[in-house]
Amino acid sequence: MSAADSLRRFIFEHHNVRGEWVQINDSFLQAKQHQDLVNPAVEAELGKALAAVVLLSATIKFKGTMIMQLQGKGDLTALVAHADNQQHIRGLVRSQETVAGDNLKQMVGESGRLVLTIESENGERYQGIVGVDADHLNQVLENYFQQSEQLATRIWLFANSERAAGLLLQELPGTGDGNKQDWDHLQILANTLTAEEMLNLDCETLLHRLFHEEQVRLYESDPVRFKCGCSNDKIATTLVALGRSELESILKDHGEIAVDCQFCGAKYRFDNVDVERILHNADFDPNKPTILH
Ligand SMILES: [Zn+2]
Repeated sequence: MSAADSLRRFIFEHHNVRGEWVQINDSFLQAKQHQDLVNPAVEAELGKALAAVVLLSATIKFKGTMIMQLQGKGDLTALVAHADNQQHIRGLVRSQETVAGDNLKQMVGESGRLVLTIESENGERYQGIVGVDADHLNQVLENYFQQSEQLATRIWLFANSERAAGLLLQELPGTGDGNKQDWDHLQILANTLTAEEMLNLDCETLLHRLFHEEQVRLYESDPVRFKCGCSNDKIATTLVALGRSELESILKDHGEIAVDCQFCGAKYRFDNVDVERILHNADFDPNKPTILH
């Protein structure tokens, strides 16, 4: 893990504003290597999505996973990024063999939408949806915060084929009108950010460069890692949802059921005996969910 792979949280001592900074390098490269990415622009979009999902997962206190899904009718058919509360990230890209377009909106094409799902450890789910009506992911996410009437939030995202970085500023609750000027002032400063600075400077240097007249309290760094949450049990649970007859038909044709994890490439294999065991456990274990989406 490089020093770049970390999340930092900070607050402005004299303003009702909090912030987060993230930079990913090794974790991004690891997430990337399992995906079929057709050009550097698509690689950068995956990087931005992973940086964004780390920032978003850190805006809420929860134990679970933040899932961001982008879908549309364009060349980029699906882009998925996951981050859990320990900053374990993974991502998935599906596209045509060539992807046209210089920005996310063009790549995702018509009917583009972004779905944000929070899956808590105890099984609660919260989901929000916003249209991809802006050119770039950060703008789409800002629209999401605005439409869902959450706290005023600004996001900056930058990426190339090797690194991705993001900055988030968010007004804290209870901000009066008098603080509006402070909020605007901080945004204007952050708007001077360049991709070069975001991708190459460390957090302290960047914050000093942007906000040197402000008192910023910077918290300890949280490491960001690539880690896939797939497991034999989870794959088995999805197989159960297919039903006995479907599973038996696959076994008859292929002799085994082969499932490759789309996030990390891990290979899972189930033969006749495994399938019987899975179905048996599903029938008798009341804690096992039988319906999966
Ligand atoms: Zn996996």
